[in-house]
Amino acid sequence: MYQGETASKLGHLDVLKSDHVKRLIEEFESLKANDSNVDDLSTWNTVEHKASPFKLIYCVDGSIASLIGLGPIKKELAFVKTALFVLDESSLDTIDKKYPHPLQMKKLMENSANLHATVFPLKNIRLKDNSLYDSVRRIIFDSFNDPSQDGHIYETYKWLIYKKWDSQKNNLSPAFQCPHLSCLRQIEGLPYNTDRSTCPHCSGEILSTDIIGFHMEMNEFAAPDSLATSYMLLHETISLFSAIRYFWENDKVQLNHILFIKDGPLSLRSQYSKLVPNIRAFLKFSKDQNYPVYLIGQEKTGAFDEFFQTIEKHIEPKELNQKFSSYKVLTHKYIRESVQCAPFRENEYGLKTNYGEKVLVKVDSKTAIVLNIPPYEYKTNLDDDYMNYPQANDLIGVERIIEGLHSLVTVKYKNALLPIVLANGVASLSSYPSASVLKLFAFDRLNIK
Ligand SMILES: [Zn+2]
Repeated sequence: MYQGETASKLGHLDVLKSDHVKRLIEEFESLKANDSNVDDLSTWNTVEHKASPFKLIYCVDGSIASLIGLGPIKKELAFVKTALFVLDESSLDTIDKKYPHPLQMKKLMENSANLHATVFPLKNIRLKDNSLYDSVRRIIFDSFNDPSQDGHIYETYKWLIYKKWDSQKNNLSPAFQCPHLSCLRQIEGLPYNTDRSTCPHCSGEILSTDIIGFHMEMNEFAAPDSLATSYMLLHETISLFSAIRYFWENDKVQLNHILFIKDGPLSLRSQYSKLVPNIRAFLKFSKDQNYPVYLIGQEKTGAFDEFFQTIEKHIEPKELNQKFSSYKVLTHKYIRESVQCAPFRENEYGLKTNYGEKVLVKVDSKTAIVLNIPPYEYKTNLDDDYMNYPQANDLIGVERIIEGLHSLVTVKYKNALLPIVLANGVASLSSYPSASVLKLFAFDRLNIK
């Protein structure tokens, strides 16, 4: 259907006249709220509200603005912005918790964010002397080396792919596919700390950022919008780990007083999941060294949030004056059977993509949020107790994280954590500079009408 075309009313009549459709509608019955949505309350734990154990809160977020030029040839590009934002817990005392004033929030954000921006050609635009495909590869390499970030992002990327916390200093990168379209063969990994190399099969140039596999989303002539989203999600993850790495290398003791927050789930999908085993390995290693990293992601939309919002009214606390939170760690079996309503499968939930497990938290009577918290160790279906994995004691610092969460919520923003609200504001491309300003900026310079 063309955009703007309305479906003809006759078309609707055809559907309604169909005996098959009528029969089906008669058979439908709507589920009552209480049919399937009362949870077993004995599986919930409670945590008394305490002063937050964290002094600093790091939070990361990003946004995208895609632009399409007018004219006979459709030109398309996408801006990406990410922001890593740090908040001093004590500064939250200076703002009205219930109804924070925008100016108070703005003051908190001044000088406390690390910003990164880049731009991708998606269709009919490219770098001089490069195909669009190679333009995007080069832009990713250059963007990771964004000089405004003093190389921290690229160093953190290398720290993750070569597991640089490991004193052996000889780890190969994860295996990956050669980006050259005439080759596309599997490469077993780049030698430790390599920035550029050549493909052992086709001798084409390889950049260390080719390992992630952004090129697998593109073809020779165009890149989809999803490429910008993938870049943003990956850059957010690496930005957050750049703060973790900073403290790991300079002042590990501080990690005990810092909460790291990502807006969205702790997961990386498809080819990007090749970083997940390394992230899991570091989080386990940091706990083994007695410097655990306190990390959460908040899932504000999607199946888990929808599910929780249907059951949360049955969960304590139900009154404003109750000074505790309750939480439930979702086992993989529970996720399959109650959230996804599918039979339990041997193929483990999030086996390759997740570095956090799902935790439902009723922070106070008005706030119900879905968190992701990393486990110390992933269990597979080869482990005995795998059916009921994970439990609360499998997750890194779950109660310590939850006991102070009440200090981060506000009635002004429903089911939101204040640091994420602030990071959204810093990272947003839709508010300032506005998308139309970006359009003028980009298309004027490119002489695109
Ligand atoms: Zn090759």
